[in-house]
Amino acid sequence: MLLNVFKVRPKDKELNHAVRVALIEALYASRASLGIGALLGGAVAAVTSYYCRTTLVEVTGLLLTLCGALRVASFGIFRPGNLSAGAKKWEILYDIGAVSYAALLGLLTLEILLISPDLRLHALMATLATGYAAGAAGRNTGRPFIAIGQLLSSALPISIGLFATDRGPAGMLLAVANLLFIIVVTDITLLTYKTVLEAFIDRQEKLQLATVYEKLSKTDPLTGIDNRGTLRLTLERLLQHREQAIAVLWLDLDRFKQINDTMGHAAGDDLLHHVASRLSKFATPMASVARFGGDEFIVVVPVENVEHALKLAEMVREVIAKPVGSGQGLMDLTVSIGIAISSPGISSDDLLRHADVALYEAKAKGRNRVILFDPEMERRLVDRQHLEHDLKRAIAQEELDLHFQPIVNLATKRVESFEALLRWHHPIHGNIPPSTFVPIAESIGLIDSLTAWVLRVACAEAQRWPDSISVAVNISAGLLKGRDLPTMVVEALMASGLSPRRLELEITESAIVEDNPNAAGLLDGFQKLGIRVSLDDFGTGYSSLSYLCRYKFDRIKIDRSFISSPDRQSETRAVVQAICSLAKSLDLSVIAEGIETPEQEDYVVSQGCAAGQGYLFARPMPREHIAGYLAGTPNSADAVSPRITPLRVVRSNA
Ligand code: C2E
Ligand code: MG
Ligand code: MG
Repeated sequence: MLLNVFKVRPKDKELNHAVRVALIEALYASRASLGIGALLGGAVAAVTSYYCRTTLVEVTGLLLTLCGALRVASFGIFRPGNLSAGAKKWEILYDIGAVSYAALLGLLTLEILLISPDLRLHALMATLATGYAAGAAGRNTGRPFIAIGQLLSSALPISIGLFATDRGPAGMLLAVANLLFIIVVTDITLLTYKTVLEAFIDRQEKLQLATVYEKLSKTDPLTGIDNRGTLRLTLERLLQHREQAIAVLWLDLDRFKQINDTMGHAAGDDLLHHVASRLSKFATPMASVARFGGDEFIVVVPVENVEHALKLAEMVREVIAKPVGSGQGLMDLTVSIGIAISSPGISSDDLLRHADVALYEAKAKGRNRVILFDPEMERRLVDRQHLEHDLKRAIAQEELDLHFQPIVNLATKRVESFEALLRWHHPIHGNIPPSTFVPIAESIGLIDSLTAWVLRVACAEAQRWPDSISVAVNISAGLLKGRDLPTMVVEALMASGLSPRRLELEITESAIVEDNPNAAGLLDGFQKLGIRVSLDDFGTGYSSLSYLCRYKFDRIKIDRSFISSPDRQSETRAVVQAICSLAKSLDLSVIAEGIETPEQEDYVVSQGCAAGQGYLFARPMPREHIAGYLAGTPNSADAVSPRITPLRVVRSNA
């Protein structure tokens, strides 16, 4: 039974600090029992001294009283709740006090049993010592070695005293019973300790788990800053309790997806860490910085006025714009920010939505900028969402049409090719230009299926034209990044039976300039099949000409803004002249887009443009007008095949 003591010892040493602290605090919990014990000790000392009148008993009684008083004082000083550092010290103090008190009580009992003939004193001391031993064992179960120490020190002397003096069979029985009492109480103490300990550990683990979960539920696990839920709560609190306006700055890292895709998720996570720690400096007791998921962060902060909010947003932009990483891995980072400022009574949901709308606008306007919410933006966004919805339906139900605009050889006036141009007649809004709906189709991921459809219809239509006439199809930049374009092209050619040399793909500058390692191989592959590749809208937006050497184009199309713009004619003419001489030296054929007048035609011819496209020759036309149109051109001698497959009726809207 007593072996249990040795089993408990090592386990006790392994105790978690928090559990140990809790157990030590429990030692100091019951002040009343200690006070009563000390009072009784004093009373016993007085009574025994009075009846025995022996120095030994008087000194022991005095020490017992003093010890009791000191323990009461130590209880008075003890302050629970902040014990982490001094726990051991308080445990030792309690240990010394408790065992000393028990030992003095035991000593006094032994002295009375040995010295005094007064049976009343014997009974008093034996009862008190046993009672104390039982009480201490129960009270200090949480620290069993103290409890057992007290038990032995106070109760063992009773048996020693009884054995040492001849008290007959009754005395012997009492001495043995007392020993058995010590053994049984020791066992009960250890058992109770086990149960108490388990309960404490359980409670502690639950407390720790609760703390961990509470922290987890409030913070973003990747960056450690506030999460979406906490931000909402902070925002609601600020909106309710602050008179000042609250600004919500919604941030989205530019090109994060690209960084993540090219450099890996670990680099992406690292970047988010950097951004979070840079933004943390804006977090104050009154402001909150949170990650809203992905690469989106939100700063919520009270502001004086709009200028203050804009200034803060600029500071945020500057803080993030510093390059991240080191050496070769140095990355330039930019951010788009949408700002919304609270108005009286606005809900947190509305305020967040406004910031999101402003962010959308910032991204749409070319990123790396700060945009303040304005209600007009929301209206535009809703319109766009409707348009997206309608476009999805129109594409699914093949409600879009293709029109064709001739590209004419400027020397012979023969039609060389037709450019296929998408048309969408919206049931409510009427004709919607491709410059509006093509970017929407790109952003909602429908450009692939739309282009596949354009290629199929354009190739099928071209197959009916004279052999000398090709068809040109516009290819969006995004398609050059994916893998599906070659399949789409080959399928359209195979389905129509059109020769690859009669297909031309028009690619805009942006598709090439945007860092796109796929592009060169793809273009080369098309050209090997005999498909021509031309560079569309040349001269717009980008000034780097290096890609003209890097990629092999068959022709370049000078953007119509340089041909048909009536003002700044001398400048635009200079550009046309420069492009033509550049093309000549690179041995590239040039098409002038947007020729509207004979003068413009004369000018581009004088500069060496081989082909032209524009209203002067013809506007984009529905496919069933093509045969009629060709009949009036030098191509009239060439045969147009009869329509084989019934094609949809199209409206002219050019
Ligand atoms: P783009 O490829 O540069 O097409 C030429 C645009 O110039 C057409 O506008 C055409 O109608 C217009 N145009 C031609 N001659 C003249 C002229 O003399 N004066 C004026 N003012 N304009 C002229 P459209 O049809 O509105 O197309 C705009 C753009 O939409 C196209 O520019 C092209 O980038 C895009 N697009 C059209 N269809 C498709 C398509 O199937 N796929 C893709 N990805 N983009 C397309
Ligand atoms: Mg084009
Ligand atoms: Mg163009």
